[in-house]
Amino acid sequence: MLSDDQITANLEDVRARVAHAAAAADREPDEITLLLATKTMPADRVAAAIRAGARVIGENKVQELAEKDGLLADLPCERHFIGHLQTNKVNQVLRYVSCVQSVDRIELADRMQHRLETLDRTVDVLIQVNVSGEDSKSGVSPTDAPDIAREIARRDRLRITGLMTIGLRSDDPEAIRPGYRSLRTTAERIADDDLDGVGMTVLSMGMSADLHVAIAEGATMVRVGSGVFGARPQAH
Ligand SMILES: *Cc1c(COP(=O)(O)O)cnc(C)c1O
Repeated sequence: MLSDDQITANLEDVRARVAHAAAAADREPDEITLLLATKTMPADRVAAAIRAGARVIGENKVQELAEKDGLLADLPCERHFIGHLQTNKVNQVLRYVSCVQSVDRIELADRMQHRLETLDRTVDVLIQVNVSGEDSKSGVSPTDAPDIAREIARRDRLRITGLMTIGLRSDDPEAIRPGYRSLRTTAERIADDDLDGVGMTVLSMGMSADLHVAIAEGATMVRVGSGVFGARPQAH
């Protein structure tokens, strides 16, 4: 595990990379939100990142949200869900997060709507799009995304604020780029439909290794884990 000082230094370093990538793309760094992907990291390491200035974190597992809640609930930080969400975990996840980035099917949207009616609240959602077409990845196809957005928009407790994708698994940034571009053009197509209750302001794409490519292609949120917390244990 990294020390507080190492986490602070890494966070500075990632912020500098974001600023550099933004400048190279003629964009302002504050157009880009940094989300820390905290899977496998203990709550005290996440708390160290929040003390160092992190304001948005993303968890992949309900169990980790629950385990870390005691330490993190009162800290000045938004929590998002960024992992595959099983329908039977919806109630638990909604206890902790203000945004679910991984909405990828109507059945899931229905369960969320139902629970949110009971709670009398709303939640922000991103539609997860599988831009690379890899079988291992969740997400709707770019082709189906506009119809699914239209359908999910009918659930009034879900506020669609944009799209999320996990890029192609590759060491070559140029191989990853077309997928990120496809997420942006998909968002533009959905925005053109001008649906009630749908904003397309958030493009959540890019991770530690490829955030510069994502920012060049229009990312408004990058999700960084190992770049701040160091390498994760292999088994995960
Ligand atoms: C782990 C994870 C990230 C961050 O990956 P790093 O390579 O550690 O930066 C981003 N998005 C999702 C959905 C993740 O699961």
